[in-house]
Formats: sequence, structure tokens, C-alpha cells
Amino acid sequence: MKRITVLGATGSIGTQTLEIVAQYPERFQVVGLTAGRNVRLFAQQIQQFHPEIVAIQDASLLPELQAAIAEVEPRPQVLAGAEGIAAVAAYGDAEMVVTGIVGCAGLLPTIAAIRAGKNIALANKETLIAGGPIILPLLAEYGVKLLPADSEHSAIFQCLQGVPPGGLRRIILTASGGAFRDWPLEKMAQVTVADALKHPNWNMGQKITIDSATLMNKGLEVIEAHFLFGLDYDHIEIVIHPQSIIHSLVELQDTSVLAQLGWPDMRLPLLYSLSWPERLPTPWKPLDLVSIGSLTFREPDHQKYPCMRLAYAAGRAGGAMPAVLNAANEQAVNLFLSEKIPFADIPRLIESACAAYASANRSNPTLEEILAADAWARNYVLNTYLTPAPVRVYLSPSLATPGSRPYST
Ligand code: NAD
Ligand code: MG
Repeated sequence: MKRITVLGATGSIGTQTLEIVAQYPERFQVVGLTAGRNVRLFAQQIQQFHPEIVAIQDASLLPELQAAIAEVEPRPQVLAGAEGIAAVAAYGDAEMVVTGIVGCAGLLPTIAAIRAGKNIALANKETLIAGGPIILPLLAEYGVKLLPADSEHSAIFQCLQGVPPGGLRRIILTASGGAFRDWPLEKMAQVTVADALKHPNWNMGQKITIDSATLMNKGLEVIEAHFLFGLDYDHIEIVIHPQSIIHSLVELQDTSVLAQLGWPDMRLPLLYSLSWPERLPTPWKPLDLVSIGSLTFREPDHQKYPCMRLAYAAGRAGGAMPAVLNAANEQAVNLFLSEKIPFADIPRLIESACAAYASANRSNPTLEEILAADAWARNYVLNTYLTPAPVRVYLSPSLATPGSRPYST
């Protein structure tokens, strides 16, 4: 019996994790759950999974949550706010914490879990992207494992089982191409929020769906792969694979290439992050290559999708630059989702934030410096948006030149 805590239980990752727990009651047991604001679903989950401790991010919803679970026996300990979430992450004898919170809000709870000696099933990529320079040493210090739950990184991790240290030469991340993969560049100026939220292959939370439409998700995954597998950025590539059947590939030193295949269904990488190194039998529909027919690949279009290049540049700059890229992206995506900026402003605002931060960037940032860089970038993007248009300075020309470094560092 593995005892687990799920952060962000009411989201896409959280609900799919709990589906797995419900499917394997003899294998997994819930110790703690956290949620942001969805009291109704959270109360149902508490009723069904009987956690010992729970926390809701929005403290103003605490009375509502308490009323909704008044009849639940045994009654869990109920906390609220960011501190409550960190306390749940560190609580009790849970062996593993699944990080399904969206955004850099997951950073402090993840650190709390690591410090409490819990292994991490990492869905919340923003945490590793922003906090990589401090998370990696903490994992070593506390002897904690970080198991990838993101489908591409799970694929790479699966391919690497049995590959000796030093055997990996190149990572090839596959990308579906997002909502606009078949839109011509000229039409991109008319993109609406509803268009961007229609993902062709995956059903996910809003933020990652927009990240998939800008291909920033793939850029973030390049940085995630760098921190998880230790390759430099010249050895991490992106290829568009519209069917989302190959979840990623690795090339080994002798040029052998290994891939992991499966339907686009997050339950499989989530299950493997929970069951590793074991393989649990599932009743899920087996892959059927003949019905798929063909698997195709093409080069990513950097002109249409500048975010990938911004992410490579931030990753190469290192220090707190990935935290700035990530926070600027989170803020820009929020502005886009609330229809305050057009789609094309997302990469422009991110590039502007990274360029403005470049002279302040330092290697080996502390946690405080990373949190400060994150807060700075959010404010920068907000202020840039609030500044009247004629005064706005965007560094867009370089965006149109594939291969060029978008900002100098
Ligand atoms: P989601 O929006 O569906 O769910 C997010 C969860 O976090 C919810 O429970 C929400 O209540 C909670 N939350 C939101 N803001 C919070 C805050 N400030 N503090 C505490 N809790 C908060 O998101 P998702 O699609 O499940 O994605 C979660 C993470 O997993 C993201 O980092 C995403 O990139 C990653 N991921 C998701 C998928 C997917 O299929 N959904 C795939 C790969 C990686
Ligand atoms: Mg992914």
C-alpha cells in the first residue's frame, strides 16, 4: 500500500490521479488533498477518499468547505491558504506527493514535501522550471526521488530504464502542435480565447492548454527535460507529431533511438510515476497501430511560435531567467484568458520581460532570489500591459528571425 498526497486534487491532473487511486484501492491510499477554490468537487473527494488532512488555497472558502464536509467521518484536519497547502504537502507518513497545482504556486509546497522526505510525482512543471537550481540540490540533500508525470518526460524516463549513466545522447520531445497547428500565420492575428482553448488531442487545464497553443508548453518542457535528465540544450530537440502517439524519444550514444508509445491519456504517465519501478496491469484500451495508420513528423515553425526560442534562450541563460520566463508567461496567459491582450502579445511580453531582466540575472540563485524574480516578472508584464500603447517597448523584430538569440545575456 503506497500512501500518497495529491496537491491540486480538483484539477485535470488531480482528478485523474484520484481516478487511479479509486481503480487500485489495494495499492494506493490518500493521506492529504489540496484544492484552489472548487469547494463542491473538493468536498466530494474528501467524502470519497477519506484523507487525514486537507487544505483549500482560498481561505475565504474555509467556512463553506467546513459546512460541506460537516457529516464526513472521520473528519480530516482542515487548513487554508498557502501555508495550509505547504503543511499538507509535508504531512504525516505519505510516501509520495503528486504535484497537480498549476503554476509557480506549486514551488513552496513542493519544497515543503521534499524537506519532509517525500518522493515527488511531478506534473507541475513550472515548479522545476523556476526552481530547478534549488530543487536539484534539495533532492540530493533529502535523498528524495523526482518522478516525471508529464507525458513526454515520463516517456523519456521509461525509455531510459536500463540505459547506463552516460548512455543518453539526445532527447527528442514530441509536440502535438496545439490548437493552431493547421492555421496559416496570417490568420494568427484573429485568434480568440475560445479558439486557443480547443486542444486537438488532450483535455487539460486552461493554462496548459494556452501554453500548448503558443507552444510555450514545449519550450517549458525543454527546460524541464534539462533539469530532469541533465542534458545541455543543444541535445534537446522538438519535433511536431500531430497524432500524439509517440510521447517522446531518446537517442543513445550508439545512435539507437527508443520511443514510448500510447494513446494521449495522462493516466498512463501518472500511473507509472506512482507505481515505478513496477508495472501495474490496467484494463485500458491497448494501443492499436493499424487503426492509427500512420505517424507523421514535421519541424516546429519558430516564426509562428516564438515561445520555443524564448524558452531555449532562458534555459541557456540559466540562473533565475527560467523563473522570469515562466512568471511572465503565467501573467501574460492570465491577461490573454481575461481578454486583455491579443494572443500575439504573449511572446512579446515574455521577451520584453526576459530582456529587461537580463542584466540582473545571476547564476546559482537562492530561493529568495527566484521568488523575487518571479514577482518582478509578473509586475513587469502587468505594468507593461497597463502602460499606454505608444510607450510600450517590444523587442519583436528578433522574433521573426529563426535561429537568432532573442535577447542577449
Ligand atoms: P488545472 O487548472 O486543471 O488544475 C490546477 C489545480 O491546482 C486545481 O486543483 C486548482 O484548484 C489548484 N490551484 C490553482 N491555483 C492554485 C494556487 N495558487 N494554489 C494552490 N492550488 C491552486 O491544471 P492541470 O491541467 O491539472 O495542470 C496542473 C499542472 O500539471 C500544471 O503545472 C500543468 O502544466 C501540469 N500538466 C498537466 C497536464 C494535463 O493533462 N492536465 C499534463 C502535463 C502536465
Ligand atoms: Mg507534456
